[in-house]
Amino acid sequence: MAPTGRAAVKDGAFQRHPKGLSLMAARHDGTLRARIKPAPRCRMRDNDLFRLALGVASPWFVASSAFDAANKRLDIKLDFKAGARFDCPECKAAGCPVHDTVEKTWRHLDFFQHQAFLTARTPRITCAKCGVRLVTVPWARPGSGFTLLFEGMAMALAMHMPVAVAAGFLGIEDKRLWRIVFHYVDAAVARMDLSGVKRVAIDETAAKRGHDYITLVVDMDGRRVVFVADGRSADTVRQFADHLEERGGDASRIKQASIDMSPAFIAGVTDNLTEAEITFDRFHVMKLIGDAVDEVRRAEVKARPELKGTRYVWTKNEANLTVRQSAVLDTLASTNLKTARAWRMRLAFQDIYAQPSRGWAEMFFDKWTGWARRSRLEPMKAVARTMQKHSEGILAWFDSRISNGLIEGINSIVQAAKAKARGYRNRDTLKRITYLIAGRLDLRLPT
Ligand SMILES: [Zn+2]
Repeated sequence: MAPTGRAAVKDGAFQRHPKGLSLMAARHDGTLRARIKPAPRCRMRDNDLFRLALGVASPWFVASSAFDAANKRLDIKLDFKAGARFDCPECKAAGCPVHDTVEKTWRHLDFFQHQAFLTARTPRITCAKCGVRLVTVPWARPGSGFTLLFEGMAMALAMHMPVAVAAGFLGIEDKRLWRIVFHYVDAAVARMDLSGVKRVAIDETAAKRGHDYITLVVDMDGRRVVFVADGRSADTVRQFADHLEERGGDASRIKQASIDMSPAFIAGVTDNLTEAEITFDRFHVMKLIGDAVDEVRRAEVKARPELKGTRYVWTKNEANLTVRQSAVLDTLASTNLKTARAWRMRLAFQDIYAQPSRGWAEMFFDKWTGWARRSRLEPMKAVARTMQKHSEGILAWFDSRISNGLIEGINSIVQAAKAKARGYRNRDTLKRITYLIAGRLDLRLPT
């Protein structure tokens, strides 16, 4: 057993025990309780310990450390050897002489329950080409008030909890953590490799309540978000084509695109992803038909009050109905209600997707549109015209088998994150969080 001793702590500094410390803990009265290990090979000065723990290499060394138990703060002072020369941060010229120094402080990983800070007189060198420049220290990014390891930890937290919560854990302001998130996400997005993208799904998601949207583009094979854009216009798709080409991709290599029937996305894909075959997402198609059924119901509800409050009975899939909704459906489905007739048309349309081949589907599709157009139900006639106009892209599903299912899943994760966290309604933050959650980014975090 190692003997246990006690050493008094000088104000703001470690008291080195002559036999060296292997483990220490601050006490409330400001003394350090230290267990002394007598093994002579383990003798180490605090400065050496911190130098090794921080991975500081020559010409840098740990000059001193000060520990303030009352303020829960550890300060480590770094310095460089006299006569040291440094690389120019701009042109990378080696061996530039030091002009003067500026004192800088960086927040580092906590030392147990204590906040830790590094301080160094940071040299400004004279470069023959660039003039006087502040050097880049090996433990921090230029301009950051945090060490790289602290930023790595901050990003790890931000990936798994709302930014405001992570900032609280770290004891920093939200906006400072956002700055770190923006830096690492933007850098990772800039070096994304999009050379293999061939099939995409494009969809919008709400940024705020109301009419503020961002558009997501998902690489269906990589199962990742590859682009997040403001708005949802035809120009959004053009921006994606540019984004793709800046990252090794090629718009003409995109062979399949899954979108809804909005004219903006159709025009955007037709003009910018010229080789892509469009598949209209089947969930959006079914939603349009469901909307038409509900329009029939709303027109009929005045004459037939039993239809009140039955919207979901007619528009949801039967498997998803509650027991009560199923009972209502059982009672009303076989009646002469116009709504029931429209509902049967919705079911028949769904069956088109269950056909064994595109040929069969085309035949059913033609029968269906004929039936709907003769139905004397205006909303069903209108939706049948829409379907006929877009038949090519609807039936393309039989060849491509792609839908927005994956993107819808990603959407719901993003929306859940937004619901949990204040600050995600801002488009710029929501974009970064979307990339962070669903972009499979290579963040290259410091470790
Ligand atoms: Zn230079």
